Amino acid sequence: MVAHQTQKQTGAQEKDDYESIIGLEVHAQLLTRSKIFCGCSTAFGGESNTHTCPVCTGQPGSLPVLNVKAVEFTIKMALACHCTISTFSLFARKNYFYPDLPKGYQISQYEYPLAKDGYMEVPVDGGKRIGIIRIHMEEDAGKLVHEGAFESSASSLVDFNRTGVPLIEIVSGPDMRTPEEAGLYLRSLRDILRYLQICDGDMEKGSFRCDANVSLRPQGQRDFGTRTELKNMNSFRHVEKALEYEIRRQTGLLEAGEEVIQETMLWDEEQGRTFPMRGKEEAHDYRYFPDPDLVPLEVSEAWIEEIRGTLPELPTEKRERFIRQYGIPEYDAAILTASQSLAAYYEECVRLFGEAKMVSNWIMGDLLRELKKDDREIEQCPVPPKHLASMLKMVTDGVISGKIAKTVFEEMYRSGEDPEKIVHEKGLIQVTDVDKIGKVIQEVLEGNPKLVEDYRKGKEQLFGFFVGQVMKATRGKANPKLVNELLRKRLSKG
Ligand SMILES: [Zn+2]
Repeated sequence: MVAHQTQKQTGAQEKDDYESIIGLEVHAQLLTRSKIFCGCSTAFGGESNTHTCPVCTGQPGSLPVLNVKAVEFTIKMALACHCTISTFSLFARKNYFYPDLPKGYQISQYEYPLAKDGYMEVPVDGGKRIGIIRIHMEEDAGKLVHEGAFESSASSLVDFNRTGVPLIEIVSGPDMRTPEEAGLYLRSLRDILRYLQICDGDMEKGSFRCDANVSLRPQGQRDFGTRTELKNMNSFRHVEKALEYEIRRQTGLLEAGEEVIQETMLWDEEQGRTFPMRGKEEAHDYRYFPDPDLVPLEVSEAWIEEIRGTLPELPTEKRERFIRQYGIPEYDAAILTASQSLAAYYEECVRLFGEAKMVSNWIMGDLLRELKKDDREIEQCPVPPKHLASMLKMVTDGVISGKIAKTVFEEMYRSGEDPEKIVHEKGLIQVTDVDKIGKVIQEVLEGNPKLVEDYRKGKEQLFGFFVGQVMKATRGKANPKLVNELLRKRLSKG
């Protein structure tokens, strides 16, 4: 550590002389049926202001009652992120005025969150730990709908359906160093939430939202630089792009000897840049205090252990098991465990067919490509595991060639038919008959006497041409190994 880093930066710094420090705050909407402090439905897309009651619209005299399911879901996430769970936590009022916040405060957790001090593994350079500072519970605000912005009749309406929907806020440590790491962290976090089935992770619908804090500091300096907070990013790609932009912007300021101002910035996807929105609030601006309408939240060790017992195998564990059990590369394992359904599909295919790497190649290649093309999830895949397995078996048994298998796969995907039926009906069975192939070879060689002569004089690269012609004449059905053998024998005969 250099002793004195206090003198002001004076331009002339190269971009690589700065280190980026990124921390993320994620809000995840919990998949409970009812809201966090009342019995109203959390269903998405209902007619405006139909999922409301005196509690979630902040009527005087109404009292909140905590939804136990929301607590259970939060504990699940906290356990999956290796957090310490507090047996005693408090709800606090975060006071601010906004038209979509009828009470004038949001119920959140402040000094005593439900969980803290955890971490998550992200697949960067063989695994990196990103600290989780805290996970706390809070309620969502409503939604403003702006109409006719530039007309004299312009108005803003408010929809309280979302008011009081349960959220967890997951605050990471300032542990990420590049936008790519931030993207990987977010994806890993979303995978876990989905594995736990406590959040649908849909960024476009707003059920998984992310704010990013970013600052720069000269390489080797321990103190953090001034940070800005980025908001309004609706996809992982946007988060990465916004961070890239903001890092460039801050680098430019520091290089010019200017200062970064602490403020909240909005990402504008269309213009591909950030805009200042407001000065950053400090916690004391919100006048947090414990909510007198809610008793302290006390959870027993026994309940925490009971919930721990319900945790499924999580993405990192599954990935490690796949590498160990199936001997597939880490890259394959990461793709195949992206969702529980895809992992289950893979395991069923391997159970039926056996060759783990061959199954992995087909799923990662042809299968995922087709699904992506149609914007389908694995759950909607028209090829069940048993069809893929029996097609692969036909390849290893020599019934069809690897090349024909591509055609069979496309047909299976299109029609949902059994591969054996497709192969028989379309006459795709591989020709392994020595006489039949020999006859085709004879025809090919007789049809190209000049080239045969050239080959025998030493132009050996023509061999591939002959193979191609034989395959073409058999419409790809000849067993390629046999074709090679027979052709070599025949050509050497002179
Ligand atoms: Zn309500």
